[in-house]
Amino acid sequence: MVDVNDAIEAVYVVTAAFFILGLHRMSHPTTARSGIVWAGCAMFAAVAITFLTPELFANGFTNLGLMGLGIALGGGLGYLAAVRVAMTDMPQMVAIYNGMGGGAAAAIAAIALLAGVGTGEASLAVTGGLIGAVSFAGSLIAFLKLQGWMRQKPITYPGQQPTNLLVLALALAFGVLLLWRPLALPFPGGSYLPAFFLFALGFGFLMTLPIGGADMPVVISMYNALTGLAVGLDGFALTNYAMVVGGVIVGAAGTLLTVVMARAMNRSISNVLFGAFGATEEASGAVQGTMKSIDAEDAAVLLAYANKVVIAPGYGMAVAQAQHKVKELMDQLEAKGVQVKFAIHPVAGRMPGHMNVLLAEAGVPYDHLNDRDEINPEFASSDVVVVIGANDVVNPAARRQGSPLYGMPILDVDAAKNVLVLKRGQGRGFAGVENDLFYNENARMVYGDAQETVGKIVQALKKL
Ligand code: NDP
Repeated sequence: MVDVNDAIEAVYVVTAAFFILGLHRMSHPTTARSGIVWAGCAMFAAVAITFLTPELFANGFTNLGLMGLGIALGGGLGYLAAVRVAMTDMPQMVAIYNGMGGGAAAAIAAIALLAGVGTGEASLAVTGGLIGAVSFAGSLIAFLKLQGWMRQKPITYPGQQPTNLLVLALALAFGVLLLWRPLALPFPGGSYLPAFFLFALGFGFLMTLPIGGADMPVVISMYNALTGLAVGLDGFALTNYAMVVGGVIVGAAGTLLTVVMARAMNRSISNVLFGAFGATEEASGAVQGTMKSIDAEDAAVLLAYANKVVIAPGYGMAVAQAQHKVKELMDQLEAKGVQVKFAIHPVAGRMPGHMNVLLAEAGVPYDHLNDRDEINPEFASSDVVVVIGANDVVNPAARRQGSPLYGMPILDVDAAKNVLVLKRGQGRGFAGVENDLFYNENARMVYGDAQETVGKIVQALKKL
């Protein structure tokens, strides 16, 4: 007879293998969708097989009922939110879901501690609980900032860092006390557990307040890594291999993504966490000159007679859902013998890979997409660059000391012979900094919603 626990363990091992294979497939756009399906099926199998755990039936079907209710509620709400969310709100969604993962890891740690596990397991649970709670609270603040329900600019006050350190020290102290005397009662009716989680959550809130909206990509992937780590530690505490492997994979992938995103913004992780980036307002009058605009028909003429065109998309393309029109623009230009390339900045849009996802959805071939390092040397030899709803990622102010964007590597679109900027009006980018590019001699503004403007350019091109 096969022991049920052995069968569960065997499924966990297969699950772990599928997580790794799924992640491997996610590393290329053509296989990414199937990678998500593989990992998702593995996750489903791991959750389903857990229902056979004999301990679940210890008090009749009560546990099963509660688990079923939790899954139905969480799964239902998650499904509804996922089908309704606009592509542009995806970063908030990732932030909140990641926070839920951290919260779940913290809750599991709390239950393990309340159940009275051994000291070794308890120290893992305390560490997992601390990291999970910090990730939960921090992700919540990231969600509020990205959703615009909280000021995006860094929130700073005197003595902020010492206060944060004190709160962290208190969380750590209560964590140690939990290991030492788990059942002592410093507060009426409770152990050290509530105080431990209160300070851990407090630290997560406080450490995220001084981080500005422009740094959110780095912060979200960092909390993602922390959630993975917390789940992995919980897995060790509970000797659950699926949790260990899943947690370690998320932790490692999230850490790599954090490093890549931080590099893309030319910032160190410590500078992101403690630098209150963007807290200072730029002195007014930094930019001089006037903006010159042209209409879509003239823009089409400029494009039709170019040899090489580079398209630099940004958040505005996502807002306007202009990616399909942009693909049409590419087709029209290529039909006229124009070489077309895309310039993809790693933090363009509002989530990692945002532009790649949208352009792939519209059918732009992957070999047309070039990352910043590849495309930057090519701008000087480009006849026209079409900036579609991008702002911060093409802002030369990033080269000027004193600008809040200083140091962020940008797409050097200003080196091209002509730059067409498609945007609705005088709106600033995510970092709220005036854009020097728009005032350049070689830049022309084409005002309007990106989808409409690109549509007009395509129509005009057809007539040429
Ligand atoms: P920005 O947010 O800097 O600028 C977008 C521009 O698009 C605005 O200036 C706006 O101008 C224009 N726009 C908005 N709606 C439309 C529309 N319907 N049609 C045409 N234009 C439109 O975008 P970037 O992609 O250049 O930069 C991304 C920024 O977001 C960076 O600062 C990055 O750090 C940050 N960020 C990135 C994340 C990521 O993971 N990628 C996550 C969170 C933040 P106007 O109003 O005049 O139309």
